[in-house]
Amino acid sequence: MKIALIDLKTEYLLIKKEIDRAIKQVIENVSFAGGEILDSFESNFAKLCGVKYGIGVSSGSAALDLSLIALAIGKGDEVITTPNTFIATTEAITHAGASIVFADCDRETYNITPDEIEKRITKKTKAIIPVHLFGHPCDMDAIMEIAKKNSLKVIEDCAQAHGALYKGKPVGSFGDCGCFSFYPSKNLGAYGHAGMVVTNNENLATKIRLLSNHGRFTRYDYEIEGYNYRIDTIQAAILGAKLKHLADWNKKRRDHASRYNDLLKDTEVITPITRDYVEPVYHLYVIRVKQRDKLSEFLRSNGISTGIHYPIPLHLQPAYKYLGHTRGNFPIAEELTDTVLSIPMFPLLRNEEIDYVVEKIKEFYKTSTLSF
Ligand SMILES: *Cc1c(COP(=O)(O)O)cnc(C)c1O
Repeated sequence: MKIALIDLKTEYLLIKKEIDRAIKQVIENVSFAGGEILDSFESNFAKLCGVKYGIGVSSGSAALDLSLIALAIGKGDEVITTPNTFIATTEAITHAGASIVFADCDRETYNITPDEIEKRITKKTKAIIPVHLFGHPCDMDAIMEIAKKNSLKVIEDCAQAHGALYKGKPVGSFGDCGCFSFYPSKNLGAYGHAGMVVTNNENLATKIRLLSNHGRFTRYDYEIEGYNYRIDTIQAAILGAKLKHLADWNKKRRDHASRYNDLLKDTEVITPITRDYVEPVYHLYVIRVKQRDKLSEFLRSNGISTGIHYPIPLHLQPAYKYLGHTRGNFPIAEELTDTVLSIPMFPLLRNEEIDYVVEKIKEFYKTSTLSF
């Protein structure tokens, strides 16, 4: 058997008609930027997030960049986030001119912990960027309380958590804004790059829309200098077609996760924890294991693709050497880095495939114990 970590091809074949129709319509309209198709996707996605405004942008990274700039975060400000994330989260802080401050994460949910955030707050702290990693929401009540107490902005990085709920409320609706990525492999993925900022704040929505389109509302009246960070209408059309399947696909991911959880019970493998107040969306299914690299190699030799999210925490990356961190500064993030393994997870994963992955994991530990 050959099993991919994420299988986009099978998914496309299943919804080929809807996707092809959506693309064809944009081409026939010759309306590639803006237009009704985009407006309707923006409002439908905002609705899913339980907020009033959605601004389509060119990527999740652009969504983060524009959010910080629009919230006037800049020189002299500190922004607290997790070292256990993709670099786009921290790049946005640097792009805005502010300073990155890391806070360690939780061993079980892999997410930034409120206690660690609180410890890092100084007079200069201006904002927090919680990342709902792998589709499991952060503890938003506690984070929002810290933010309120210290007058901090909150920018949710929702790039891996489309449709995830915290105490029944969608991620992206807690902070000042939520930033989504529609990178092809995300739970809602474009066929190229795209992203969105969602917010209930009308002024912020206006500012972000302005910044994303050269600071203009009309063709040649520039209110401010901005960027060309607009979303392609063709991507919005594809995303609009796929949005109808998101709830079902997220449910399938949860079903797969619960099958993995059951089958991996009583093994050497530590399966991901779900706090009882969240409904996660399993962007990835991340286990913690002994002899991680050997296991990954064994699975690969049996046709099973795996991933490591993430192999080096951000505070130990060459790009952040200037921050002066060393091993031991964020012990949980470092421990995760050394032990996590992402195993196949996508909506159309079949039960036989899950069973095969688990069988091979068990086989690995049986033989590797024997060899000691
Ligand atoms: C994917 C991702 C991003 C960036 O999104 P792009 O659309 O690739 O720019 C940001 N943050 C996290 C946590 C991500 O996983």
